Amino acid sequence: MTPEYRRLRVALLGAGAVGSQVASLLLQHGDELADRAGAVLELAGIAVRDVNAPRDVDLPAELFTTDAESLIVGADIVIELMGGIEPAREYILQAIGSGADVVTANKALLATHGPELFEAADQVGASVHYEAAAAGAIPIIRPLRDSLAGDRIVRIMGIVNGTTNYILDRMDTEGADFADVLAEAQRLGYAEADPTADVESYDAAQKAAILASLAFHTAVPLEAVHREGITGVTKAMIDQARDADQVIKLLAVCERIDVDGAESISVRVYPALVSRTHPLASVHGAHNAVFVEAEAAGDLMFYGAGAGGIQTASAVLGDVVSAARRHIAGGTGVGESTRANMPVAPIGHVVTRYQITLEVDDQPGVLATIAGILSDGGVSVATVVQTVVDLSTPVAEPGRSTGTGIPTALLVIGTHRATEQALSDTVARLAESDVVERVASVLRVEGE
Ligand code: NAP
Repeated sequence: MTPEYRRLRVALLGAGAVGSQVASLLLQHGDELADRAGAVLELAGIAVRDVNAPRDVDLPAELFTTDAESLIVGADIVIELMGGIEPAREYILQAIGSGADVVTANKALLATHGPELFEAADQVGASVHYEAAAAGAIPIIRPLRDSLAGDRIVRIMGIVNGTTNYILDRMDTEGADFADVLAEAQRLGYAEADPTADVESYDAAQKAAILASLAFHTAVPLEAVHREGITGVTKAMIDQARDADQVIKLLAVCERIDVDGAESISVRVYPALVSRTHPLASVHGAHNAVFVEAEAAGDLMFYGAGAGGIQTASAVLGDVVSAARRHIAGGTGVGESTRANMPVAPIGHVVTRYQITLEVDDQPGVLATIAGILSDGGVSVATVVQTVVDLSTPVAEPGRSTGTGIPTALLVIGTHRATEQALSDTVARLAESDVVERVASVLRVEGE
């Protein structure tokens, strides 16, 4: 016998890449979703800017409206898939205020106004679900919030931006240049015409702020996330990493750190060297992965599609089913917590390993001078490799001669763990040294 389910009105805001797929799946799989949610999910309407715009999938014309505010009134669940800050923020607050539960995939909004939305929801006992906001289809929000609620997260290292992983992966596997791969990624639709949000790591920084807030029960403002892009990553750096059995990945790193005896957190996004034996090294193409280190559970890896309309719709619909179950069960539940509220430490306090590549004069005494500068700066050397690969020229030129007539050597120095502050002070002194022609690159080494 088919159970008599309560009907819940679902309002959808946005029918773009993700929203149109969410609407289509809701309509196609209504019966199954009703059984899973314990409620009939009735798509009450879809708010868009232009009701006549072409859609990725066929959807009933009568569902479309440009009047989002009227649609929200009387909705039990509001799915926000418009993107951007306003009017998305205003609509979500209206939905919460009128007693609806909210599902959103809007990382930009959550990274900047998350605490405001969670507090508004807490006050009225509503819930805000955002599984799709951090790594598309990959279940990571619920594992962090629920499955790992009994554990303590030590560190998260995520490849959370598909475009940059695609670019770095093609540079690695095909020996291609950054500019060439970016142009092709734009042609294939993997990268936007304006790639800034991806290649300068703004998108990854938003996701890092969301993941760190959740993992460490701390409000992490976007401005506290240290952010570096991948535009400075050259083919030579990638080649050098490959020769050393490493790969360069854009990582979002969120970790617990100790600052002068006080528990703090660090949240940072930058290109880093990762050993080829690390699970993150095998994340290819536009895929995403989040590697979580927890005190009791140990290492966990979550892998899959970080974007895509229908893939992201899967995560959104999972949230809709959760929201429906909660709506039926009632009760406020426990919302997002910032009870730990640890300070977010500036980048200078981060401790990791580094690889410094220097172009130096190839003459006696140079190594001793450099070793002295590193030691004075409190940076201890783990490995030194002298190589003939020249980072500034496409073709390796052994013993390239400089204008001074002194040949140039390339020194690749791997350090032991040191603070960023010690490292950057030392690199500045190296750059000023008479024996160093150029600091070719400085990369963090993560995952070791
Ligand atoms: P999109 O393709 O640009 O679609 C946006 C939709 O919102 C369109 O249907 C648009 O209407 C509607 N819209 C925009 N402003 C509106 C307004 N003021 N009033 C009413 N409707 C408005 O965006 P998307 O790629 O689906 O992304 C949606 C959200 O999911 C974003 O927050 C994004 O960050 C997130 N997300 C996307 C992906 C992905 O792979 N695309 C992955 C993870 C998360 P018109 O169609 O009439 O213009």
